[in-house]
Amino acid sequence: MTNNENKTNNIETFKELLKDFTLPKPENKPKENYVNILILRELKSAARFTTDGVEANSAIIRIGSIEETVGKMFGRKQVASDRRKAKALQRTLFTDEMKKAIGDDEWDGCTMIVTKMCQKCPECVLFGSAASDEGISITSRVMYDEAYTIRALSAIVQEYFQNAPGDDYSKKPTSGIREPDFFKEGTLFPCVITLRDVTTEEVLFFLNITDRNSRYGATSTRFGKVQNHILGVYAGHREGPSSLEVTRKIALKLAEKMLDSDKIKIGAGLTNPSTVDLAEKILDSDKIETLEDKLKKVMYSDTLQVEEVKKLATESYEEISKNQRINYVAKEIVSTFNAGENIEKTKIATTSISEGTNNLTLPVKSIGNGVKFNETTLSTILTELNDDVMKALLVEQINKLGNLLNLKNSQEEKARPSKARGKKAKTETTSTPVQQNVP
Ligand SMILES: [Zn+2]
Repeated sequence: MTNNENKTNNIETFKELLKDFTLPKPENKPKENYVNILILRELKSAARFTTDGVEANSAIIRIGSIEETVGKMFGRKQVASDRRKAKALQRTLFTDEMKKAIGDDEWDGCTMIVTKMCQKCPECVLFGSAASDEGISITSRVMYDEAYTIRALSAIVQEYFQNAPGDDYSKKPTSGIREPDFFKEGTLFPCVITLRDVTTEEVLFFLNITDRNSRYGATSTRFGKVQNHILGVYAGHREGPSSLEVTRKIALKLAEKMLDSDKIKIGAGLTNPSTVDLAEKILDSDKIETLEDKLKKVMYSDTLQVEEVKKLATESYEEISKNQRINYVAKEIVSTFNAGENIEKTKIATTSISEGTNNLTLPVKSIGNGVKFNETTLSTILTELNDDVMKALLVEQINKLGNLLNLKNSQEEKARPSKARGKKAKTETTSTPVQQNVP
């Protein structure tokens, strides 16, 4: 028991620290609360991201002074995959609770069919749904944008041609059949997803889905194993940078690093008498490469180091944020406390949460206008977020939804005493079709 409570202490601390940038319960009028999640999606197997079934999705983007065609992952493909995952998770974890919360057996597990969504489950309310039979639509509070690869399309896409060779020893050449393009294993997509005006339960629900989801793209059951590296959670009253901005900055940083290491090489040569000759040779024979040259090298490289890109993605996100006048204060779980950053760091003692009370000794000193959590801290949180904990959070969320659903669905409000809503209904077998009886 004590063990179990200790286990969720970090989650409680996380929720407490997000309090200023989330809502206690969903509301119907928009506010300015943003929880931005920085993710690096890494292909663990070849994946198809096509619209016409053959050609890889791509876009021409400008990075620094060059223009390049890169791979693209549509926002709507990401959202469709995450939604499927979220609905499946709800069905697995709390179908019974959902039925109890609604008050009868009408919940059928919800669906991905646009006009048939239940509009009552935490997933529908978070991700939104189109107008149903009752003519109500719920606006999504999860914002995805298009994600782009760091490398150029020709470096990451594999084109296949099938030429049905037959089994004869001698044969005439046949014209190849174009097979769908594949993004190669190791392709990286930096992504930023923004949750607006959400509850802390919804933040954890979204993180849990992202952590679990490993299939994106067409024919998702057969191709496209993806690992989502959750690099940071950034909460504030402003929306942060876009996925494209982060991708661009990462490419530039990689190019700058190459340029810097060139300079070091040449510089070291000059100060060291024994290699002066060598340095002069380099200066004489090779042209000194420009940032543009390096950028091309980065974009056409065969591989990129994931760990390096992860680090640069975080740096990029935070630098762009600063330019947009958003300064996030780092919040870490005590066990992962580590010095080395410029931004003020706040140590949170998980032991300060005493059993049975909610008295957190939280630091109030803050120099930023938002809070951030790094990959290590989030990993601790995600480890604690097991099925039981997630289920409890979903139940908490459905209890909070009563209010919003009443606002949206006045029929329900009139039909049902507010006390019965959200709370567990007295009996599971209530079969009175309350909603339909109301004029
Ligand atoms: Zn639903």
